[in-house]
Amino acid sequence: MKHDRKRSENTIDKGFKGILCPTREQAERIEKTFGCCRYVFNSFLDERIREYRERGKTLTYTEQCAMLPLLKKDPKTSWLGEVDSTALQSSVRALQDSYDAFFRGQTGFPKFKSKHSHRQSFRSTNNHGSIRLVDRKHIRLPKLGEVQCRFPMEVQGKILSAVVTKEPDGKYGISLNCEVPRPPEPEKTGKAVGIDLGIRTLAVTSDGKEYDNPKTYEKNLRKLRRTQRKLSRKTRGGRNWEKQRKKVAKVHQKIRNQRTDAIHKMTHELVYAYDLICIEDLDVREMSKGKLARGITDASFGEIRRRLAYKTEWTGKRLIVTERWYPSSQVCSGCGYVNKDAKDLKIRRWRCPQCGQEHDRDLNAAKNILREGLKTAG
Ligand SMILES: [Zn+2]
Repeated sequence: MKHDRKRSENTIDKGFKGILCPTREQAERIEKTFGCCRYVFNSFLDERIREYRERGKTLTYTEQCAMLPLLKKDPKTSWLGEVDSTALQSSVRALQDSYDAFFRGQTGFPKFKSKHSHRQSFRSTNNHGSIRLVDRKHIRLPKLGEVQCRFPMEVQGKILSAVVTKEPDGKYGISLNCEVPRPPEPEKTGKAVGIDLGIRTLAVTSDGKEYDNPKTYEKNLRKLRRTQRKLSRKTRGGRNWEKQRKKVAKVHQKIRNQRTDAIHKMTHELVYAYDLICIEDLDVREMSKGKLARGITDASFGEIRRRLAYKTEWTGKRLIVTERWYPSSQVCSGCGYVNKDAKDLKIRRWRCPQCGQEHDRDLNAAKNILREGLKTAG
């Protein structure tokens, strides 16, 4: 597990995502594991709340882990013994992590997990080969045996853990966290870049390169709106509603996959072309264009930032996330004049009233982000 393992300088953790095609019995066992993990999370959360209320102390991860074997011996909860014990342990860890995040002020107080959540998951830890690929199409998982699987990318390195998920469209996925040798660092280019993350395009760089959204993105977005409209006309919870909900989830998944591919290619290219990459903090963005598109762009902003963060780390490059204390798209990158008229998102081009420079909205913003980033970088 990432918390207990000593990190080596010569290796990095890499994720490999694939799909799982369990048999009916295996799928039942997976569902049972979701249930058991949720039970552990919820009952331990409940216990922590009670302990705090009655004795004013918070139970620790270690104390609660020690409870697991006792629960398995108790006839009332002996069914916990039927699923992978490392998955249960991960649930206790997840509870600890949400407490830690809460105490750091990053999130609200931990919430109980719902059985009705459309995305379920559990994490298994590899204990001396308990998780291993049998061949290209089969993976051995604790208490599940050999499960049929498919990985678009060849899995490399030492498997540390596996997360099994059930997506909102009802399909099972698996994500392996592997330890792989650190790739040789790419040559330094001595170049820095600012990146404006957008709605119209995926991103625009301060060098004027545009990264477009995937080709069928708009089309799928329209399809998503259509399927969602149909969903809203059905009775919530009914059989037709459930059918339509899966359709919506499927389109969502498709859009997500397309964006992920495009983001992967873009971030890869950027870390090789530049030594210093500057982006803006995403939380405070002024933007609109419907809730739907916004939800998706917000998600991909997070994805771009996450990927840039680990890719710059792998390659010995640097990522600067600038705080957005000034509106980068309204400031003239030539002379610093603030043009309030450019606030309107519909304005794609504008001329600076002070110095007369002609600006493309996104390119201008990217240049400002670069300048701010360089200031932070020192
Ligand atoms: Zn100007």
